[in-house]
Amino acid sequence: MTHDLRILVPEDAIRTRVAALAAELATVLNGVSPLVVGLLDGAFVFTADLVRELARRQVPARVTFMSLASYGRSTRSRGTVTVIRDCAPDEVRQRTVLLVDDILDSGATLQFAHARLIAFGAARVITCVLLDKPSRRRVSFTPDFIGFTIPDAFAVGYGLDHAGEYRGLPWVATLPEGTP
Ligand code: 5GP
Ligand code: MG
Repeated sequence: MTHDLRILVPEDAIRTRVAALAAELATVLNGVSPLVVGLLDGAFVFTADLVRELARRQVPARVTFMSLASYGRSTRSRGTVTVIRDCAPDEVRQRTVLLVDDILDSGATLQFAHARLIAFGAARVITCVLLDKPSRRRVSFTPDFIGFTIPDAFAVGYGLDHAGEYRGLPWVATLPEGTP
């Protein structure tokens, strides 16, 4: 099924912002090469662009992924997060980790991932999300870097899906109100 999508963040705005984020991260990292941990599936596009912008700025990075599932969306009340694919504790130990996600919504996923990386012995965890929907926050979690703050609408594209579709769109769009 195709929807009547509205562009929320155009391609050139994303490109400019991702480059600016990489420049800020390069300053904060100050010569340290991070382990980038992207959260699957949604953050695969953002992670891929971000690590290339970091490399352009002489910040080499290792890259790995975690896949988490949050069951808070259906019930709303619990926000239980489970691990589908983990990253290796050995890789994380004593490293500066750059935790990357597509969108911060309730905050449960990023808070869980952050705590897990600390538990694995990360020296430092820097968090970076492309999109932030602060109006939907249920746990208090403030990311270190945010690409764009957006209103409470369902976002797709640039890695984000709706029922498995739209991840390949080069921009971020919103679904019409009331899409099931
Ligand atoms: P949280 O745990 O912060 O509630 O949710 C984070 C995850 O929910 C994101 O990584 C993303 O996978 C999913 N999510 C939250 N809001 C949206 C949205 O507007 N669009 C899409 N496609 N996924 C979302
Ligand atoms: Mg996600």
